Amino acid sequence: MIDTHAHLQGLDGGAGAAIEEAAAAGVERIVCIGDSPELAEEAIVLARRHPGVSATVGLHPHRAELWNDALRDRLDELLGDPAVVAVGETGLDYFRDRAPRDAQALAFAGQVVLAEKHGKPLVIHTREAAADTLAVLREARTAVVLHCFSLPDQLDEVVERGWYVSFAGNVTYPSATDLAEAARRVPAELLLLETDCPYLSPLPHRGKPNRPHYVLETLRAVAEMRGADPGELGAQVEANAARVFALP
Ligand SMILES: [Zn+2]
Repeated sequence: MIDTHAHLQGLDGGAGAAIEEAAAAGVERIVCIGDSPELAEEAIVLARRHPGVSATVGLHPHRAELWNDALRDRLDELLGDPAVVAVGETGLDYFRDRAPRDAQALAFAGQVVLAEKHGKPLVIHTREAAADTLAVLREARTAVVLHCFSLPDQLDEVVERGWYVSFAGNVTYPSATDLAEAARRVPAELLLLETDCPYLSPLPHRGKPNRPHYVLETLRAVAEMRGADPGELGAQVEANAARVFALP
């Protein structure tokens, strides 16, 4: 199994322990998110050290004010590393609004250009910003992964465009009936699963720090929603991740 979205750098007990613990549980592959130049460098180091780990390179919308030519050039350089499989997470967040919206738009647009240049998929964070996010993505000439999927009302368009839908632990919460419905409806070949650890632990770990191997709980829950066999669905998710991230 794979966890397609993990922030390994900040996990309790260190990333190495979390990677080993995940592998022992059957989660042998992890996409480690590097959403600042420093975190991206750390993700690349982890990917070089652990064969099951891949890295992303980008700038989180919360940090969008840091975007400038020098930062873009640094990300561009890091994207040349063979351990890097995607750009992100990038996007727009009007919920927390930690950076001005024009700064977020600039950083997002710049990362779309980088993804197109390197032929890498975009890993997208979007919160309370569906219209503006979709407007940018409709023009992007590269693959798209909607991380911590939160656009159930736009699922039809998302599927039509062939964007990947990645469910995080919140899909297991009883109140998330719209996400559960989306998890039932999304075509198997566009489905991804992730932890977004250390955030958003799935049931029964809700409220505790998330770990990469908890993706198995999300797999179990989504398989049940879809009436699918967890083993088969896990294999499908791995195949989807290998396709979109061009994993070895
Ligand atoms: Zn994340």
